[in-house]
Amino acid sequence: MTNEKPKKILVVGGGTAGWMAANLIASRWNDVDICVLESTEIGIIGVGEGSTPHLKFFFDAINVTESEWMPACNATYKNGISFVNWSSVPGFESYFHPFAAQTDEFTVPTFFSNVRARIQGHNINAHPDNYFLETYLTSQNLGPIPAESFPFQILYGYHFDATLVGQFLAEKAVSRGVKRAFGTLTEVIQHSDGVLTGVRLDDDSVLEADFFIDCSGFKSLLIQGALRISFNSFKENLFNNAAVVMPSEISELIPPQTKSTALSSGWAWKIPLTNRFGNGYVYSNDYITPDQAETELRQHLGLIDSDVCARHLRMKVGRAEKHWEKNCLAVGLSQGFIEPLEATALALSYETITNFIKYYEDGHYSSKFEEIFNTEINGKFDGVRDYIVCHYKANQRKDTTYWRDNAVNTHVSDNLNKILYLWRTSQDFAKDMHMHNLQGSYQAKSWACLLAGYGVLPPLYLSAIKSYYKPQQDMDQLADFIRRCGLNFRQHKELLN
Ligand SMILES: Cc1cc2nc3c(=O)[nH]c(=O)nc-3n(C[C@H](O)[C@H](O)[C@H](O)COP(=O)(O)OP(=O)(O)OC[C@H]3O[C@@H](n4cnc5c(N)ncnc54)[C@H](O)[C@@H]3O)c2cc1C
Repeated sequence: MTNEKPKKILVVGGGTAGWMAANLIASRWNDVDICVLESTEIGIIGVGEGSTPHLKFFFDAINVTESEWMPACNATYKNGISFVNWSSVPGFESYFHPFAAQTDEFTVPTFFSNVRARIQGHNINAHPDNYFLETYLTSQNLGPIPAESFPFQILYGYHFDATLVGQFLAEKAVSRGVKRAFGTLTEVIQHSDGVLTGVRLDDDSVLEADFFIDCSGFKSLLIQGALRISFNSFKENLFNNAAVVMPSEISELIPPQTKSTALSSGWAWKIPLTNRFGNGYVYSNDYITPDQAETELRQHLGLIDSDVCARHLRMKVGRAEKHWEKNCLAVGLSQGFIEPLEATALALSYETITNFIKYYEDGHYSSKFEEIFNTEINGKFDGVRDYIVCHYKANQRKDTTYWRDNAVNTHVSDNLNKILYLWRTSQDFAKDMHMHNLQGSYQAKSWACLLAGYGVLPPLYLSAIKSYYKPQQDMDQLADFIRRCGLNFRQHKELLN
């Protein structure tokens, strides 16, 4: 590879990933000629409506304010995700996974100390819903934007219309000089050494470039197609391979959270936008047929007699072995996909693009850091996979073969096995997670929320003999602190007006 910044970049694919890449690259390298190729014949996947805080980092990086993009995309705020019916342990039928907030510094030590005591058998309330500001905000339907004087930082995500976000980002990129081409790619043109030089379209025209971003979705036309990078499937770790989606009417109160409800053979998301709920059932078609899944989703939503249309999708779960190869970077579904339980896909796309830009610049536009970059991105994918697999390993349902098979699935990474071992045995889970460098893509707090939230805890038989245990902090005091912080926040719906 040359040691020059590319003069011409072709982004193949105009879904969310393609337009994110075009905007980020254009705002960093404003002297590069960037073109995005889209196929109106093929279209975009049109799902992916929940985010992590990375989407805020993205909009900040391209200098777009919430007041500009949120109304244009029917977007709402997201404090986190509630997991409902993943456990049948009494008292643990649901829990909330909040995004990080600076106030956690005051409440997390008590959470860990009480979790530790509960694991040792003391009769202490270690349910995660008692310890986090964003959980409280959600219970009161408050949004995550505090008064200006509030001294702590709160991270939050969004819900949005995937198609409108694509359109918004396309317009933004074009206004900043990015070109747009329409056509269907029929052939990838390469040098004899494999380096990409151009793509041929269905009208026989050729688009040339010296660097290519593969955002062609599950087809992965460049990285897995032309460059033959192998695909590492996660199907043995994660059973779900299909989804059925449909909208429903939005409620009067717009909740600042995604709801994930376990159903017979997977789980259903409920994502609030300003004008509708987006719903979907992610399931494994080894356990139910698409028709059965659609019926179950309709029943769950109370839409059994409704004529609202459902859309059925297949999912290819796993990742490419490399994300950067020769003069090609893969971003989005073309590089890999992990089922959307924690809405991590756009976060992985954002990290892929920003890390690539950093390494490419640091290596003076050579492939010097290609291997380090690929290893890091693989680590991020595998870290997210482990956390998602943990939801299924830790599920406490016994009612269907799907949930029982997930609980006994032995295709679990060494890291996750170590985490589960530490959870049962460690005297200090957070410290040991740190010491053994096991957190992966999630903080120890998130792992503890998941495991305590599903009630993966020993019986309380020791509480009688070890009743001398005192919680580190009085629970009433903690609740009062969280409540007082909550006074600084406004109702979610008010924030959207
Ligand atoms: C069921 C489901 C739920 C999801 N939920 C979430 C979520 O909550 N949060 C989240 O972050 N992510 C989620 N995702 C992932 C999210 O949808 C994607 O990461 C995101 O939409 C980006 O997709 P993409 O741009 O990579 O691919 P696509 O949207 O599929 O875009 C591919 C582009 O390539 C073009 N193309 C393809 N073939 C050709 C060709 N031959 N010639 C020219 N152009 C071509 C298409 O026209 C299109 O423009 C979900 C995914 C699924 C399947």
